[in-house]
Amino acid sequence: MTTTTVVRTAVKPRRAVLAMPEYHPPLAAREALRLDFNENTFAPSPRVMEQLKQITPEGLTKYPEREPVERIAAQHFGIEADQVLLTNGVDEVIHLVCAAFLEPEDEALIATPTFFMYDVSISMMTSGLRKIQSDASLEFPYERFMAAINERTKLIIVASPNNPTGAIVSREHLLAIAAAAPQAVLMVDEAYFHFHGESTIEDIATIPNLLIARTFSKAYGLANLRIGMLAGNVELLKYVRKVCSPYNVNGVALDCLPVALADEDYLAWYTEQVRIGRERMMDGLRTMGVPFFPSHANFILMKIGPKHAELVKAMRKHGVLLRDRSADPGCDGFVRITIGVEEHVTLGLAALQTSLNEIGWKA
Ligand SMILES: *Cc1c(COP(=O)(O)O)cnc(C)c1O
Repeated sequence: MTTTTVVRTAVKPRRAVLAMPEYHPPLAAREALRLDFNENTFAPSPRVMEQLKQITPEGLTKYPEREPVERIAAQHFGIEADQVLLTNGVDEVIHLVCAAFLEPEDEALIATPTFFMYDVSISMMTSGLRKIQSDASLEFPYERFMAAINERTKLIIVASPNNPTGAIVSREHLLAIAAAAPQAVLMVDEAYFHFHGESTIEDIATIPNLLIARTFSKAYGLANLRIGMLAGNVELLKYVRKVCSPYNVNGVALDCLPVALADEDYLAWYTEQVRIGRERMMDGLRTMGVPFFPSHANFILMKIGPKHAELVKAMRKHGVLLRDRSADPGCDGFVRITIGVEEHVTLGLAALQTSLNEIGWKA
């Protein structure tokens, strides 16, 4: 066994870094049915597995080249290559957008509860993060959000569908937000787009302050390859490219993306599995009397109450992982369950029923 000798340093990070929140998702001991991270619960397209067999030793020695794959992605999404930046997941998109646009005196605006990385990356640059809390419905607080926009607002991030609520923001409202803050970047995080089907990506051609983030971690099942995409106004993307490493996306992910995009049948099949599973899960929750929030994504947020941690523990015992969202603002007693393929929804529902009985939960 080795022991670390702690040598104290006199070096302090930037004040913003000292003040940043830390994000430590519970990644340990996940050898169970993973209904906790909103991943694809099954597999990516089989074409990706075929592509992975093409990896050569020489290929691994080369620095990755992003641009050719950006051209393929652009074509796939019906936009121009200079309107696309491929990234190390949407997490990197958030980081890069904050680094490119936020001065310490700027304000950034998000609605809570939402994805925690916005807070982390915004706080890295400025103390001017403003959070607009949803009411008990957990719908997007549109009126209060609009009222919070001012001349110092520089970055607005909206997730639609939102995580962990599953709520959406209409295109009409998103365009109104963009118009109300022409000096600010509006980034719409469409990580869960495939489970909803409506996008504002076509508006990047005409809205000069709009950015769209997409991930290949969720519907495409590539979370472990780390690949995401930012689409938007060419000038805005030029600034983001300046703060981005030329080798931010690894070559294995770049090789796999074109085949994953090409297999539209696979994507249609997986998203249909989720849509059917989501209905089944909601029906099951209604039958069990568990309150939940209507979701447009591949997960459902449910209201368990004081026994939330007990439920997560009982489910783990039955081999199913859930995510306790109780610490999120306005989410006391809430637990989130991921929707996957049919078999996994069946297992999740059965474990939920058994676990709720075991802990003596009552509606
Ligand atoms: C999961 C998730 C992401 C992370 O995507 P990566 O591409 O894996 O970094 C981004 N935004 C939201 C809202 C998410 O839930």
